[in-house]
Amino acid sequence: MRRTVFNEDHEAFRETIRAFIEAEVVPVYDEWFAAGQAPRDFYYKLGELGIFGISVPEEFGGAGMETHKFEAVLYEETSRAGVMFGGSGVHVLLALPYLKMLATDEQKKRFLPKFVTGEEMWAIAMTEPGTGSDLAGMKTTAKLSEDGSHYVLNGAKTFITGGVHADKVIVCARTAPPTAEDRRHGISLFCVDTKSEGYSVGRKLDKLGLKVSDTAELAFVDVKVPVEDLLGEENKGFYYLGHNLASERWGIAYGAYAQAAAAVRFAKQYVQERTVFGKPVAHFQNTKFELAACQAEVDAAQAVADRALEALDAGELTPAEAASAKLFCTEVAHRVIDRCLQLHGGYGYMNEYPIARLYADNRVNRIYGGTSEIMKTIIAKDMGL
Ligand SMILES: Cc1cc2nc3c(=O)[nH]c(=O)nc-3n(C[C@H](O)[C@H](O)[C@H](O)COP(=O)(O)OP(=O)(O)OC[C@H]3O[C@@H](n4cnc5c(N)ncnc54)[C@H](O)[C@@H]3O)c2cc1C
Repeated sequence: MRRTVFNEDHEAFRETIRAFIEAEVVPVYDEWFAAGQAPRDFYYKLGELGIFGISVPEEFGGAGMETHKFEAVLYEETSRAGVMFGGSGVHVLLALPYLKMLATDEQKKRFLPKFVTGEEMWAIAMTEPGTGSDLAGMKTTAKLSEDGSHYVLNGAKTFITGGVHADKVIVCARTAPPTAEDRRHGISLFCVDTKSEGYSVGRKLDKLGLKVSDTAELAFVDVKVPVEDLLGEENKGFYYLGHNLASERWGIAYGAYAQAAAAVRFAKQYVQERTVFGKPVAHFQNTKFELAACQAEVDAAQAVADRALEALDAGELTPAEAASAKLFCTEVAHRVIDRCLQLHGGYGYMNEYPIARLYADNRVNRIYGGTSEIMKTIIAKDMGL
């Protein structure tokens, strides 16, 4: 089916990104994989390329384009090449929507120009050791000082993508206890400078996949956060999270669809080259049927992902629709990548083959940004159940 989401500008961007990946990422990717992260300098290159500023208003150094279509192209091109741009996905996909929606003009002037160049990399810290799905149960606190000049932050976060390299982190913390009617009340967001006294980065976590993206534990002991760095209004954090998780979930859905499409491409190439019993693996009817079934699933996921993209750009993607797109695309990717790995035989289990990395990288899509079970909860509630 003819796709209508991308125009000439997006396709020109695709060419640029494809060439950039070939020149700057593919030759060094094994080193990043072994090191467990992309080097900090790489983020400056992404800044120079203009990737961080696409949707940042021009007055703050960006290109001012109100669309997620370039991000969509990035998902397709990185997956196609079997690579990732380190932990930088959270910088644009997760952190930026909060800054654009909530930052005051003064905060935008302070934060966005360095955001665009990659001089300051951002992460977002919601999850805690004791609570992930149930974010209202978070224990990190931020207490306003007696003179009203700053908040004092105490607590711990875990699984924070980009947490090792981050210069600034949007930290969610309790500024008031939950009320009897609403346990989501009392959470606020803060732009925390990672060089603050009392802020520390704990372990860089050893993950099953996403090897080139740094994921860390964070701890806060009496960290002073100036009142100027409160993001949005006090105690309304949960509402903001609910609003912005829709774009995060679209991103995960799109990335998962792109990974599934890449898996089919890798498998198709592999089965034509690999010979067993004197014939290419592609010769067997099972191979053709498996790949045909996978392609049909990818086509369906692409239609959902593209439609969600249009809805997101139009400001119409509801939380339940984003949850539905995430649930569908990530479950499709899970099935498709597994079947494509199977067609690689033992080589599919080796990290030197991109299908093995895709398999490991994709697994988390059904967990982070809200698990598949939480997506079902959201959809069921929207259905009135
Ligand atoms: C690689 C990685 C990167 C991450 N990056 C970030 C980040 O940058 N920032 C951040 O804040 N967080 C991040 N996370 C955290 C992620 O969002 C959480 O792991 C996720 O929301 C699940 O929370 P949890 O791990 O505490 O699981 P739990 O909430 O403990 O869930 C355990 C199980 O219980 C199920 N469950 C929970 N509630 C229900 C329910 N109501 N009904 C049915 N089943 C339920 C879950 O589906 C799951 O199967 C990251 C996680 C990973 C693995």
